Amino acid sequence: MKRYSAFAIAREALRGHKGWERAWASPEPRERYDVIVVGGGGHGLATAYYLGKNHGITNVAVLEKGWIGGGNTGRNTTIIRSNYLQDASAAIYEKARALYETLSQELNYNIMFSPRGVMMLAQTHHEVRGYQRTAHANALQGVATEYVGPERVKELCPIISIDGPRYPVLGALWQARGGTARHDAVAWGYARACSDMGMHIVQNCEVTAVRSSNGQVTGVETTKGPIQCDKLALVVAGHSGRLAEMAGFRLPVESVALQAMVSEPIKPCMDVVVMANTVHGYMSQSDKGEMVIGGGADGFNNYTQRGSFHHIEETVRALIETFPMLSRLKMLRQWGGIVDMTGDRSPIIGKTPLGGCFINCGWGTGGFKAIPGGGWATAETVAKGEPGPLAAAFSLDRFREGRFIDESVAAGVAH
Ligand SMILES: Cc1cc2nc3c(=O)[nH]c(=O)nc-3n(C[C@H](O)[C@H](O)[C@H](O)COP(=O)(O)OP(=O)(O)OC[C@H]3O[C@@H](n4cnc5c(N)ncnc54)[C@H](O)[C@@H]3O)c2cc1C
Repeated sequence: MKRYSAFAIAREALRGHKGWERAWASPEPRERYDVIVVGGGGHGLATAYYLGKNHGITNVAVLEKGWIGGGNTGRNTTIIRSNYLQDASAAIYEKARALYETLSQELNYNIMFSPRGVMMLAQTHHEVRGYQRTAHANALQGVATEYVGPERVKELCPIISIDGPRYPVLGALWQARGGTARHDAVAWGYARACSDMGMHIVQNCEVTAVRSSNGQVTGVETTKGPIQCDKLALVVAGHSGRLAEMAGFRLPVESVALQAMVSEPIKPCMDVVVMANTVHGYMSQSDKGEMVIGGGADGFNNYTQRGSFHHIEETVRALIETFPMLSRLKMLRQWGGIVDMTGDRSPIIGKTPLGGCFINCGWGTGGFKAIPGGGWATAETVAKGEPGPLAAAFSLDRFREGRFIDESVAAGVAH
């Protein structure tokens, strides 16, 4: 594919922009592929990309039932950080964060990575101790974070009220190289790079059944007909339980709606990402000026990509104490996505009970930040048939063997 560059923009401006080619091809599926990846979200596309780039496997199809990035990848609040507590988590999230730093250059596609800094507010004494502990763990893991006091919080984000009546700000866990990226650009950038390697990105193609013989996967049934494959990767986030059922096994995952909203655009007033986990809300400002606000997950399992109305009220009410200026803002729109929650709030990457069938799921409310690392680790597992060092701890077996990677208490909220 032609490279995007300043020169290309100038050339196309002179030609009336008639020379741009489609960012990725939209072929009809072939009869057979070496690898089929189900799910055209960030993790599915990144898995395909690293299969080609790191392992030379390019006879690959990504099958997406809707449009690429139309699942959680295009619905999240784009927070990127790697300040997790457990070693296995810090390793995979930091790998992903590090890959994000140069992803625009690598994919030749501007994913608008903005390492503006992420702070997680400590608003109870329990959180102070928890975040200090995480800062110590991060120091040992080689992840650059620091615990900062309330004055520094106010300096970094002047619109915060640090003396709230219920939950004053006591400090924060600060990761200066955390930040945000443009979510759908991540999907589009990987899709373009995959297409450039000759892979097939097939949209509007729902997988309806998994075919196997003698305990080994042989292919899938889709709304575009049957397709055979040697290996299958299920990367469908909130729909993982359904795909696992098709492949004949069960997953320890619950699917719930998580929602977010944006305000009307206002002038720049906040150049960091703030997460307030005790009151449960988090916020950043988009390049367009909208305040991007994330809220809670529904308390019941469902597949409606909407979210419950009472969460809007709860989230805004929670944030107003910490950001009083919010009370004057109008909200523009709200949406939801179906996230796949595991009991220990850590992902599942690895082999499944069906031979040749692999899975990447369970990122729950926090998998956008992990896309490059998750794709890297899944591709390695699919290519070699065994998990590599990044994925090993996240196997499905851990739930049977009691090897949990507990991030739920550590993170409070896992976005
Ligand atoms: C409101 C909200 C806020 C969030 N905020 C953050 C955040 O700030 N930071 C962060 O790191 N994470 C966040 N997340 C989580 C993050 O969005 C997800 O963990 C991540 O996007 C998962 O990526 P994925 O590629 O696994 O899944 P998805 O992007 O959901 O992709 C899965 C794809 O599979 C497709 N699919 C499903 N079934 C089939 C089928 N039968 N056949 C073919 N295709 C199928 C779907 O259509 C979908 O496109 C948030 C999520 C939500 C909903």
